[in-house]
Amino acid sequence: MVLDAFSVRVALGVVTVTLLVLFCTSFHRTRSPYAGWWSLALMEFMVGNAAFLLNGSSHQQWANPLGNVLVVAGAFSVWAGARSLRDLKAVPWQLAIGPAVTALASILENPGTNVWSGGMVYLAMMTAGIALAAKDLWLIKASHSQVHKALSLAAGLLAAYYLGRWVVYVLEGPGGETFRTYFGPGPSGLVSMVLLVTVSFSMTALTSDQLIKGLKERAARDHLTGLLNRGTFLDLATTELNRLHSTGSGAAVVLADLDHFKAVNDEYGHGAGDVALRAFAEACAASVRSTDLIGRYGGEEFILFLPGATQDRAESIATEISRRMAATPTPDGVAFPTISYGVTSSIPAGADLTFMIEVADAALYSAKAQGRNRIVGADRLEAAIIADEARS
Ligand code: GH3
Ligand code: MG
Ligand code: MG
Repeated sequence: MVLDAFSVRVALGVVTVTLLVLFCTSFHRTRSPYAGWWSLALMEFMVGNAAFLLNGSSHQQWANPLGNVLVVAGAFSVWAGARSLRDLKAVPWQLAIGPAVTALASILENPGTNVWSGGMVYLAMMTAGIALAAKDLWLIKASHSQVHKALSLAAGLLAAYYLGRWVVYVLEGPGGETFRTYFGPGPSGLVSMVLLVTVSFSMTALTSDQLIKGLKERAARDHLTGLLNRGTFLDLATTELNRLHSTGSGAAVVLADLDHFKAVNDEYGHGAGDVALRAFAEACAASVRSTDLIGRYGGEEFILFLPGATQDRAESIATEISRRMAATPTPDGVAFPTISYGVTSSIPAGADLTFMIEVADAALYSAKAQGRNRIVGADRLEAAIIADEARS
Protein backbone atom coordinates (compact mmCIF):
# COMPACT_ATOMS: atom_id res chain seq x y z
CA MET A 1 0.00 0.00 0.00
CA VAL A 2 1.28 3.50 -0.83
CA LEU A 3 0.37 6.28 1.58
CA ASP A 4 -1.82 8.95 0.06
CA ALA A 5 0.51 11.93 -0.40
CA PHE A 6 -2.22 14.57 -0.45
CA SER A 7 -3.71 13.56 2.93
CA VAL A 8 -0.29 13.32 4.56
CA ARG A 9 0.59 16.79 3.25
CA VAL A 10 -2.62 18.26 4.64
CA ALA A 11 -1.95 16.62 8.02
CA LEU A 12 1.66 17.85 7.95
CA GLY A 13 0.38 21.35 7.16
CA VAL A 14 -1.96 21.29 10.17
CA VAL A 15 0.84 20.09 12.50
CA THR A 16 3.22 22.72 11.12
CA VAL A 17 0.73 25.59 11.55
CA THR A 18 0.05 24.54 15.14
CA LEU A 19 3.77 24.38 15.96
CA LEU A 20 4.42 27.65 14.14
CA VAL A 21 1.90 29.45 16.35
CA LEU A 22 3.54 27.95 19.46
CA PHE A 23 7.08 28.81 18.33
CA CYS A 24 6.21 32.35 17.24
CA THR A 25 4.69 32.97 20.66
CA SER A 26 7.85 31.64 22.28
CA PHE A 27 10.06 33.81 20.05
CA HIS A 28 7.93 36.87 20.74
CA ARG A 29 8.31 36.30 24.47
CA THR A 30 11.94 35.21 24.69
CA ARG A 31 13.62 36.65 21.56
CA SER A 32 15.74 33.51 21.61
CA PRO A 33 17.55 33.20 18.24
CA TYR A 34 16.85 29.46 18.28
CA ALA A 35 13.08 30.02 18.53
CA GLY A 36 13.39 32.65 15.78
CA TRP A 37 15.16 30.30 13.36
CA TRP A 38 12.70 27.51 14.09
CA SER A 39 9.74 29.81 13.45
CA LEU A 40 11.29 30.76 10.10
CA ALA A 41 12.00 27.10 9.26
CA LEU A 42 8.41 26.11 10.02
CA MET A 43 7.08 28.97 7.94
CA GLU A 44 9.24 27.77 5.02
CA PHE A 45 8.13 24.14 5.48
CA MET A 46 4.50 25.22 5.68
CA VAL A 47 4.45 27.45 2.59
CA GLY A 48 6.67 24.98 0.71
CA ASN A 49 4.33 22.06 1.41
CA ALA A 50 1.32 24.21 0.55
CA ALA A 51 2.96 24.93 -2.81
CA PHE A 52 3.25 21.16 -3.45
CA LEU A 53 -0.54 20.91 -3.08
CA LEU A 54 -0.76 22.78 -6.38
CA ASN A 55 0.95 19.88 -8.19
CA GLY A 56 -1.28 18.73 -11.05
CA SER A 57 -2.85 22.15 -11.45
CA SER A 58 -1.97 24.86 -13.96
CA HIS A 59 0.18 26.49 -11.23
CA GLN A 60 2.57 23.55 -10.96
CA GLN A 61 5.03 25.34 -13.28
CA TRP A 62 6.04 27.81 -10.56
CA ALA A 63 4.61 26.15 -7.44
CA ASN A 64 6.72 22.99 -7.71
CA PRO A 65 10.13 24.72 -7.86
CA LEU A 66 8.97 27.17 -5.16
CA GLY A 67 8.01 24.24 -2.89
CA ASN A 68 11.41 22.60 -3.41
CA VAL A 69 13.27 25.84 -2.69
CA LEU A 70 11.29 26.68 0.44
CA VAL A 71 11.57 23.22 1.96
CA VAL A 72 15.36 23.22 1.38
CA ALA A 73 15.54 26.76 2.82
CA GLY A 74 13.67 25.38 5.86
CA ALA A 75 16.30 22.65 6.33
CA PHE A 76 19.05 25.26 6.22
CA SER A 77 17.18 27.48 8.70
CA VAL A 78 17.12 24.49 11.04
CA TRP A 79 20.89 24.37 10.63
CA ALA A 80 21.15 28.11 11.41
CA GLY A 81 19.08 27.51 14.56
CA ALA A 82 21.40 24.70 15.63
CA ARG A 83 24.41 26.98 15.08
CA SER A 84 22.79 29.74 17.17
CA LEU A 85 22.84 27.28 20.09
CA ARG A 86 26.62 27.18 19.70
CA ASP A 87 26.80 30.99 19.51
CA LEU A 88 27.87 30.67 15.89
CA LYS A 89 26.43 32.83 13.16
CA ALA A 90 25.25 31.35 9.87
CA VAL A 91 26.77 33.18 6.93
CA PRO A 92 23.99 34.32 4.50
CA TRP A 93 25.64 32.83 1.40
CA GLN A 94 26.00 29.47 3.15
CA LEU A 95 22.26 29.49 3.84
CA ALA A 96 21.40 30.64 0.31
CA ILE A 97 23.52 28.18 -1.66
CA GLY A 98 21.29 25.08 -1.08
CA PRO A 99 18.01 26.78 -2.06
CA ALA A 100 19.71 28.51 -5.03
CA VAL A 101 21.10 25.26 -6.48
CA THR A 102 17.72 23.57 -5.92
CA ALA A 103 15.90 26.41 -7.73
CA LEU A 104 18.18 26.09 -10.71
CA ALA A 105 17.84 22.30 -10.91
CA SER A 106 14.03 22.48 -10.59
CA ILE A 107 13.62 25.10 -13.29
CA LEU A 108 15.79 23.11 -15.69
CA GLU A 109 13.72 19.87 -15.39
CA ASN A 110 10.32 20.86 -16.82
CA PRO A 111 8.52 21.76 -13.60
CA GLY A 112 5.26 22.31 -15.52
CA THR A 113 4.86 18.61 -16.29
CA ASN A 114 7.36 16.93 -13.97
CA VAL A 115 6.42 16.93 -10.25
CA TRP A 116 9.93 15.62 -9.47
CA SER A 117 11.73 18.46 -11.24
CA GLY A 118 15.15 18.90 -9.67
CA GLY A 119 14.41 15.93 -7.38
CA MET A 120 17.95 14.64 -7.20
CA VAL A 121 19.39 18.00 -6.15
CA TYR A 122 16.45 18.67 -3.83
CA LEU A 123 17.03 15.40 -1.94
CA ALA A 124 20.80 15.96 -1.82
CA MET A 125 20.35 19.47 -0.40
CA MET A 126 17.82 18.27 2.18
CA THR A 127 20.29 15.59 3.27
CA ALA A 128 23.07 18.19 3.53
CA GLY A 129 21.00 20.77 5.47
CA ILE A 130 19.68 18.25 8.00
CA ALA A 131 23.06 16.51 8.41
CA LEU A 132 24.73 19.88 9.12
CA ALA A 133 22.05 20.62 11.72
CA ALA A 134 22.65 17.21 13.33
CA LYS A 135 26.39 17.91 13.47
CA ASP A 136 26.00 21.35 15.09
CA LEU A 137 23.41 20.06 17.57
CA TRP A 138 25.82 17.32 18.58
CA LEU A 139 28.69 19.78 19.10
CA ILE A 140 26.78 22.02 21.53
CA LYS A 141 28.73 22.19 24.78
CA ALA A 142 26.90 20.37 27.54
CA SER A 143 24.82 22.91 29.44
CA HIS A 144 21.83 22.49 31.69
CA SER A 145 20.22 19.75 29.70
CA GLN A 146 21.43 17.05 27.36
CA VAL A 147 18.36 17.39 25.18
CA HIS A 148 20.44 18.58 22.24
CA LYS A 149 22.00 15.11 21.97
CA ALA A 150 18.57 13.51 21.53
CA LEU A 151 17.67 16.15 19.00
CA SER A 152 20.93 15.63 17.14
CA LEU A 153 20.16 11.92 16.98
CA ALA A 154 16.68 12.59 15.59
CA ALA A 155 18.14 14.97 12.98
CA GLY A 156 20.83 12.39 12.17
CA LEU A 157 18.17 9.72 11.57
CA LEU A 158 16.23 12.11 9.35
CA ALA A 159 19.40 12.93 7.41
CA ALA A 160 19.99 9.17 6.95
CA TYR A 161 16.40 8.77 5.74
CA TYR A 162 16.91 11.58 3.21
CA LEU A 163 20.16 10.00 2.12
CA GLY A 164 18.17 6.78 1.57
CA ARG A 165 15.60 8.72 -0.45
CA TRP A 166 18.38 10.18 -2.57
CA VAL A 167 20.08 6.82 -3.18
CA VAL A 168 16.85 5.04 -4.16
CA TYR A 169 15.84 8.04 -6.29
CA VAL A 170 19.13 7.83 -8.15
CA LEU A 171 18.85 4.03 -8.55
CA GLU A 172 15.24 3.63 -9.62
CA GLY A 173 13.74 7.10 -10.06
CA PRO A 174 10.60 8.50 -8.41
CA GLY A 175 8.32 5.95 -10.10
CA GLY A 176 10.10 2.87 -8.68
CA GLU A 177 8.32 0.49 -6.31
CA THR A 178 10.74 0.92 -3.37
CA PHE A 179 10.83 4.69 -3.71
CA ARG A 180 7.04 5.04 -3.79
CA THR A 181 6.53 2.65 -0.88
CA TYR A 182 9.23 3.90 1.51
CA PHE A 183 10.60 7.19 0.28
CA GLY A 184 7.79 9.00 -1.57
CA PRO A 185 6.01 12.14 -0.33
CA GLY A 186 3.59 10.14 1.84
CA PRO A 187 6.11 8.26 4.02
CA SER A 188 8.50 11.22 4.12
CA GLY A 189 5.65 13.48 5.28
CA LEU A 190 5.01 11.08 8.17
CA VAL A 191 8.72 11.03 9.08
CA SER A 192 8.78 14.85 8.99
CA MET A 193 5.80 14.99 11.35
CA VAL A 194 7.59 12.76 13.87
CA LEU A 195 10.63 15.05 13.72
CA LEU A 196 8.56 18.21 14.15
CA VAL A 197 6.93 16.78 17.25
CA THR A 198 10.37 15.76 18.65
CA VAL A 199 11.68 19.26 18.09
CA SER A 200 8.71 20.94 19.69
CA PHE A 201 9.15 18.68 22.70
CA SER A 202 12.75 19.86 23.16
CA MET A 203 12.02 23.47 22.27
CA THR A 204 11.34 24.79 25.74
CA ALA A 205 14.47 23.22 27.19
CA LEU A 206 16.75 24.50 24.44
CA THR A 207 15.25 27.99 24.41
CA SER A 208 15.61 28.36 28.15
CA ASP A 209 19.18 26.98 27.97
CA GLN A 210 19.95 29.74 25.50
CA LEU A 211 18.25 32.35 27.67
CA ILE A 212 19.99 31.22 30.86
CA LYS A 213 23.35 31.29 29.09
CA GLY A 214 22.70 34.83 27.84
CA LEU A 215 21.55 36.03 31.26
CA LYS A 216 24.56 34.46 33.00
CA GLU A 217 26.89 36.14 30.54
CA ARG A 218 25.19 39.50 31.09
CA ALA A 219 25.17 39.09 34.85
CA ALA A 220 28.91 38.35 34.86
CA ARG A 221 29.86 41.48 32.94
CA ASP A 222 29.88 45.19 33.50
CA HIS A 223 27.36 46.76 31.17
CA LEU A 224 29.40 49.83 30.16
CA THR A 225 32.80 48.25 29.43
CA GLY A 226 31.95 44.59 28.85
CA LEU A 227 34.67 43.64 31.38
CA LEU A 228 34.02 41.18 34.21
CA ASN A 229 32.15 42.72 37.09
CA ARG A 230 33.70 42.78 40.53
CA GLY A 231 31.97 39.67 41.89
CA THR A 232 32.71 37.50 38.88
CA PHE A 233 36.30 38.74 38.72
CA LEU A 234 36.90 37.86 42.38
CA ASP A 235 35.32 34.41 41.99
CA LEU A 236 37.33 33.55 38.88
CA ALA A 237 40.61 35.00 40.19
CA THR A 238 40.28 33.16 43.52
CA THR A 239 39.72 29.84 41.77
CA GLU A 240 42.60 30.50 39.39
CA LEU A 241 45.00 31.57 42.17
CA ASN A 242 44.23 28.40 44.15
CA ARG A 243 44.89 26.34 41.06
CA LEU A 244 48.17 28.18 40.43
CA HIS A 245 49.35 27.70 44.00
CA SER A 246 48.59 23.99 43.83
CA THR A 247 50.88 23.74 40.81
CA GLY A 248 53.57 25.91 42.42
CA SER A 249 53.12 28.97 40.17
CA GLY A 250 52.39 32.56 41.05
CA ALA A 251 50.38 35.45 39.63
CA ALA A 252 50.30 39.23 39.58
CA VAL A 253 47.53 41.67 40.42
CA VAL A 254 47.30 45.16 38.93
CA LEU A 255 44.93 47.78 40.30
CA ALA A 256 44.40 50.79 38.04
CA ASP A 257 42.66 54.07 38.77
CA LEU A 258 42.07 56.85 36.23
CA ASP A 259 43.60 60.14 37.41
CA HIS A 260 41.36 63.11 38.17
CA PHE A 261 38.55 61.32 36.39
CA LYS A 262 35.94 63.44 38.08
CA ALA A 263 37.39 66.43 36.19
CA VAL A 264 36.77 64.64 32.84
CA ASN A 265 33.10 64.28 33.75
CA ASP A 266 32.91 67.85 35.01
CA GLU A 267 34.62 69.40 32.00
CA TYR A 268 33.35 67.33 29.08
CA GLY A 269 30.23 65.67 30.44
CA HIS A 270 29.36 62.20 31.69
CA GLY A 271 29.21 60.85 28.10
CA ALA A 272 32.86 61.70 27.50
CA GLY A 273 33.70 60.05 30.83
CA ASP A 274 31.99 56.88 29.62
CA VAL A 275 33.98 56.99 26.38
CA ALA A 276 37.21 57.22 28.40
CA LEU A 277 36.19 54.24 30.55
CA ARG A 278 35.46 52.15 27.45
CA ALA A 279 38.74 53.23 25.83
CA PHE A 280 40.60 52.15 28.95
CA ALA A 281 38.84 48.77 28.95
CA GLU A 282 39.86 48.27 25.33
CA ALA A 283 43.46 49.28 26.07
CA CYS A 284 43.52 46.66 28.85
CA ALA A 285 42.02 43.93 26.68
CA ALA A 286 44.52 44.67 23.90
CA SER A 287 47.50 44.49 26.27
CA VAL A 288 46.87 41.19 28.05
CA ARG A 289 46.68 37.52 27.12
CA SER A 290 43.40 35.68 26.66
CA THR A 291 43.98 33.77 29.89
CA ASP A 292 44.33 36.98 31.94
CA LEU A 293 41.30 38.36 33.80
CA ILE A 294 40.19 41.99 33.63
CA GLY A 295 37.48 43.40 35.88
CA ARG A 296 35.83 46.72 36.55
CA TYR A 297 36.49 46.99 40.25
CA GLY A 298 34.54 50.18 40.94
CA GLY A 299 33.54 53.39 39.10
CA GLU A 300 36.89 54.27 37.47
CA GLU A 301 38.96 51.56 39.12
CA PHE A 302 39.99 48.43 37.25
CA ILE A 303 41.71 45.23 38.26
CA LEU A 304 43.81 42.72 36.36
CA PHE A 305 44.76 39.21 37.37
CA LEU A 306 47.73 37.87 35.41
CA PRO A 307 48.38 34.15 35.98
CA GLY A 308 52.06 33.23 35.88
CA ALA A 309 53.18 36.85 35.46
CA THR A 310 56.22 38.18 37.31
CA GLN A 311 56.34 41.63 38.92
CA ASP A 312 58.32 42.96 35.93
CA ARG A 313 55.93 41.52 33.40
CA ALA A 314 52.91 42.96 35.25
CA GLU A 315 54.53 46.41 35.39
CA SER A 316 55.35 46.33 31.69
CA ILE A 317 51.73 45.40 30.94
CA ALA A 318 50.64 48.46 32.93
CA THR A 319 53.07 50.61 30.89
CA GLU A 320 51.63 49.12 27.69
CA ILE A 321 48.05 49.89 28.77
CA SER A 322 48.95 53.54 29.44
CA ARG A 323 50.72 53.76 26.09
CA ARG A 324 47.68 52.40 24.27
CA MET A 325 45.33 54.69 26.20
CA ALA A 326 47.42 57.73 25.30
CA ALA A 327 47.46 56.64 21.64
CA THR A 328 43.65 56.19 21.49
CA PRO A 329 41.99 58.89 19.36
CA THR A 330 39.71 61.00 21.56
CA PRO A 331 36.44 62.76 20.72
CA ASP A 332 36.89 66.43 19.71
CA GLY A 333 38.61 68.52 22.36
CA VAL A 334 38.48 65.80 25.04
CA ALA A 335 41.68 64.79 26.81
CA PHE A 336 41.75 61.26 28.24
CA PRO A 337 43.04 60.97 31.80
CA THR A 338 46.36 59.44 32.76
CA ILE A 339 46.37 56.33 34.94
CA SER A 340 47.93 55.32 38.26
CA TYR A 341 48.70 51.68 39.01
CA GLY A 342 49.46 49.55 42.01
CA VAL A 343 51.11 46.25 41.11
CA THR A 344 51.94 43.21 43.21
CA SER A 345 52.88 39.63 42.53
CA SER A 346 52.67 36.43 44.52
CA ILE A 347 55.32 33.84 45.01
CA PRO A 348 54.56 30.11 44.92
CA ALA A 349 52.38 29.17 47.88
CA GLY A 350 52.08 32.91 48.49
CA ALA A 351 49.33 35.22 49.57
CA ASP A 352 45.63 34.90 49.01
CA LEU A 353 43.78 37.19 46.64
CA THR A 354 42.36 39.50 49.31
CA PHE A 355 45.86 40.19 50.61
CA MET A 356 47.24 40.76 47.12
CA ILE A 357 44.49 43.27 46.37
CA GLU A 358 45.14 45.02 49.68
CA VAL A 359 48.81 45.36 48.76
CA ALA A 360 48.08 46.53 45.22
CA ASP A 361 45.62 49.05 46.65
CA ALA A 362 48.24 50.40 49.05
CA ALA A 363 50.73 50.68 46.16
CA LEU A 364 48.09 52.49 44.11
CA TYR A 365 47.51 54.86 46.99
CA SER A 366 51.24 55.52 47.04
CA ALA A 367 51.23 56.19 43.24
CA LYS A 368 48.52 58.79 43.74
CA ALA A 369 50.42 60.39 46.63
CA GLN A 370 53.59 60.60 44.53
CA GLY A 371 51.82 62.69 41.88
CA ARG A 372 49.77 60.17 39.79
CA ASN A 373 50.41 58.90 36.22
CA ARG A 374 52.82 56.22 37.44
CA ILE A 375 53.21 52.58 38.35
CA VAL A 376 54.12 51.61 41.89
CA GLY A 377 55.10 48.04 42.49
CA ALA A 378 55.22 46.25 45.80
CA ASP A 379 57.09 42.99 46.10
CA ARG A 380 56.29 40.52 48.82
CA LEU A 381 58.54 42.06 51.48
CA GLU A 382 57.36 45.59 50.84
CA ALA A 383 53.82 44.35 50.67
CA ALA A 384 53.38 43.77 54.36
CA ILE A 385 54.83 47.19 55.23
CA ILE A 386 52.71 48.95 52.61
CA ALA A 387 49.59 47.18 53.73
CA ASP A 388 50.33 48.11 57.35
CA GLU A 389 50.99 51.75 56.46
CA ALA A 390 47.82 51.93 54.40
CA ARG A 391 45.80 50.64 57.34
CA SER A 392 47.30 53.02 59.88
P1 GH3 B 1 41.92 60.48 41.63
O1 GH3 B 1 42.96 60.90 40.66
O2 GH3 B 1 42.33 60.77 43.03
O3 GH3 B 1 41.50 59.09 41.42
O4 GH3 B 1 40.66 61.42 41.34
P2 GH3 B 1 39.32 61.03 40.61
O5 GH3 B 1 38.63 62.27 40.21
O6 GH3 B 1 39.61 60.07 39.53
O7 GH3 B 1 38.54 60.23 41.74
P3 GH3 B 1 37.13 60.46 42.41
O8 GH3 B 1 36.92 59.23 43.26
O9 GH3 B 1 37.06 61.78 43.07
O10 GH3 B 1 36.10 60.48 41.23
C1 GH3 B 1 35.73 59.34 40.52
C2 GH3 B 1 34.63 59.76 39.57
O11 GH3 B 1 34.28 58.68 38.70
C3 GH3 B 1 33.37 60.16 40.28
C4 GH3 B 1 32.27 59.46 39.52
O12 GH3 B 1 31.24 60.34 39.15
C5 GH3 B 1 32.97 58.95 38.29
N1 GH3 B 1 32.36 57.74 37.77
C6 GH3 B 1 32.16 56.55 38.41
N2 GH3 B 1 31.55 55.68 37.58
C7 GH3 B 1 31.35 56.32 36.39
C8 GH3 B 1 30.75 55.94 35.15
O13 GH3 B 1 30.30 54.81 34.94
N3 GH3 B 1 30.74 56.86 34.14
C9 GH3 B 1 31.25 58.12 34.33
N4 GH3 B 1 31.20 58.97 33.30
N5 GH3 B 1 31.79 58.51 35.50
C10 GH3 B 1 31.85 57.64 36.51
MG1 MG C 1 40.49 58.19 39.94
MG1 MG D 1 38.95 55.94 42.32
